[in-house]
Amino acid sequence: KSSSNNLHVVLLSSPEAGHVVPILALARRLAELQGVRSTVLLVTTGVHSASNVVSPPRENGLVEIVRLPPVDISSLVNPSTKVATLLYLTMQEAVPLVRSAIAAMDRRPDAFVVVYFGTDSLRVAAELNIPKYVLFTSTAWFLALSLYCPILDEKIKGQYIDKPGQLDIPGCKPVRPEDVVDMMLDRDDQQYHEYLRMGKEITALSDGILLNTCGALEAETLQAFVKNEAMKSVLKSPVYPIGPLTRPVERTGLKSELMDWLNKQPNQSVLFVSFGSGGVLSAEQTTELAWGLEQSRQRFLWVVRPPKKGHVNDVFFPDNIKGAEDDYLPRGFSIRTKKIGLLVPTWGQQVEILAHPSIGGFMSHCGWNSALESIVSGVPLIAWPLYAEQRMNASYLAEELQVAVRPEVLPTKKMVGRDEIEKMVRTLMEHKDGQAMRDRANQLRTGALNWIKEGGSSHQLMSQILTDIRPKRVIATKIE
Ligand code: UDP
Repeated sequence: KSSSNNLHVVLLSSPEAGHVVPILALARRLAELQGVRSTVLLVTTGVHSASNVVSPPRENGLVEIVRLPPVDISSLVNPSTKVATLLYLTMQEAVPLVRSAIAAMDRRPDAFVVVYFGTDSLRVAAELNIPKYVLFTSTAWFLALSLYCPILDEKIKGQYIDKPGQLDIPGCKPVRPEDVVDMMLDRDDQQYHEYLRMGKEITALSDGILLNTCGALEAETLQAFVKNEAMKSVLKSPVYPIGPLTRPVERTGLKSELMDWLNKQPNQSVLFVSFGSGGVLSAEQTTELAWGLEQSRQRFLWVVRPPKKGHVNDVFFPDNIKGAEDDYLPRGFSIRTKKIGLLVPTWGQQVEILAHPSIGGFMSHCGWNSALESIVSGVPLIAWPLYAEQRMNASYLAEELQVAVRPEVLPTKKMVGRDEIEKMVRTLMEHKDGQAMRDRANQLRTGALNWIKEGGSSHQLMSQILTDIRPKRVIATKIE
């Protein structure tokens, strides 16, 4: 229970589920393991906010959630403004709201944590003279690229995607130009410049970077932060791999049509198909996917969304539209597949679904939270990257961790045909290659769960951070 002795941490998230989910998990873990009280500030846009669909932590005594008043950036953008720019602007406009929310608190916070699109608000923590951290919600590898991109910017001329060969990142797996993050696709776009700025600010303005990864998944890259001189020269603050900020849920006894259906399926027999909080396929690709699933004759559970209508910004904030399925699914699909498939409109309880013993594979857009949720449930993947840093995640899952199959050509370049989809699904669900990936996912699961168990490395790192914070708290209180 909360008392004045508990440390009080303020955590700030941007509106998308990919950030809200891990920041809430961090607040919960601080409460559970360390008795830390936290206030989670959620930036909202008033349109479609992920914070409405994401379930809040149960440790209500210690975790308070505050939805900030909606931010309106409509006068700052135009229809071609890219997603990352929208997020940076949203977080910039939220800074005064963050300042007032903290000013209104009965006790000044002892530390501040923000997701990486929100580096501007680190200045608020600096004004208060409290320790400040960035929660980098993706891989150590993507962090390494982000930190090193300002150097690549000086070294390399022309567009990265046109470069022959690979982009070398000191001490890390090189990045194929076709896999670079969306922010690096066009060096003339504003989002690239925002990204360069972020690469510098996450380390220059913070006292530390919390990473949603662990040694069991990214040992080599984490070593580079400590040992590689070129990497150390761009890293100004310590890195704390405290992830995965997720774990498989225990059987919740959640009653729903979906869980009833899953309960009736054989163990590891169902492919879960879902493309994250914002992934939407084209109409043509949705139809092709349906044919591929049907041809594979495997059981599936598909979180299906109406196809994209052309506006790229839709990817992050899907509506709660329940579309007329027959417009974009092959005629009669749901009737023909009734015995083996279940269609769930728009949104599913992903963590609960992945933890269900009937699930044997996950066709995923490879958002990092989804990848981690799959791994901690021991579920191998079909890697189908769509946006942000997902192409890198897909390569990492397939090549380094060897827990994923993927299409021969990136789905962002070319439509994936039904025969290839059938083949991937069968490989994952029926063949020994798929079983080898499942075994591997289970090994990684063990390593990841050991990292986050009580007394594990993640716990130790968090204790170390709190030990750093405590004495500063005394000084801060004296200044008041
Ligand atoms: N999610 C969910 N149900 C859905 C879609 C997404 O619960 O139907 C959750 C998912 O479990 C994950 C988060 O939303 O925790 C999405 O984060 P991720 O990094 O995988 O991808 P993003 O949505 O940021 O691209």
